[in-house]
Amino acid sequence: MTLWGGIEGGGNKFVCAVGTGLGNIVSEAIFDTLTPEVTIGQIVNFFTEQQQHLGPLKGIGIGSFGPIDLHPNSPTFGSITTSPKLDWAQTDLAGMIKNSLHVPVAIDTDVNAAAIAENKWGAAKGLDTFIYLTVGTGIGGGAMINGELVHGLLHPEMGHIMVPHDFAKDPFTGNCEFHHNCLEGLASGPAIEKRWGGKADELSNDHPAWSLEAEYLALGVVNYIYTISPQRIIMGGGVMRRTQLFPLICQNVLDMLNGYIQLPEIVKSINDYVVPPALGSKAGVLGAIALARRMF
Ligand code: ZN
Repeated sequence: MTLWGGIEGGGNKFVCAVGTGLGNIVSEAIFDTLTPEVTIGQIVNFFTEQQQHLGPLKGIGIGSFGPIDLHPNSPTFGSITTSPKLDWAQTDLAGMIKNSLHVPVAIDTDVNAAAIAENKWGAAKGLDTFIYLTVGTGIGGGAMINGELVHGLLHPEMGHIMVPHDFAKDPFTGNCEFHHNCLEGLASGPAIEKRWGGKADELSNDHPAWSLEAEYLALGVVNYIYTISPQRIIMGGGVMRRTQLFPLICQNVLDMLNGYIQLPEIVKSINDYVVPPALGSKAGVLGAIALARRMF
């Protein structure tokens, strides 16, 4: 059996897996995101041991936090660039894995990887134009348009869009270190904690945090509907595990669209339009395996 490796690189942890895809993960390991030397060393050790037991991997896919240089002709292709995680800025993530393990490596953003997994096995099956958004320690979005993952000049950075901010209603100035009150600065998990002075996980379901959160996220969703015209929007990440957000976001989206878009897919079945990932927290690492498979 041909086996593949997948690496989901996140701000808090790296998830590594060996397998072929959904339903067939042979082994898995999770490492904290420490310095690149330590964490990449642990990842290399894991895959080295796995290959000793299971035989050579045909390829390894990486879906990582970024920004990442994904331009194939760039001398720094596969490197993390200006990451807010300073230890990781200018880290040649794909190169270090490839040169240590001598296995072909594919790399994309964590959200593009999750998008491709949801397209192959999950909530975006059969669609060719959709968005996968994550709302957690940061906000990011991956997009597939007409069957192709979007890269362009860099890759989309959907979390950093600017959204209306009513300071009278929400005096919190935002915590994005680049833009203050971009969407991520107002609605990421750390922004919720900073604004309300408590862990997002510990806020009750009827805390006013959630109606404000739903409004900001709906502003994002409406902007993505207008710019990309997705057939569906999948929303994952730690914050979206508070599932009471989904109906709140959906109602806000309908209110903000205000009848301008009349498609039944949105106005009649919004709950099937803005949805959680079918693959749950496995979307990222499964997507990394899918990226590896796509190389061949
Ligand atoms: Zn920002």
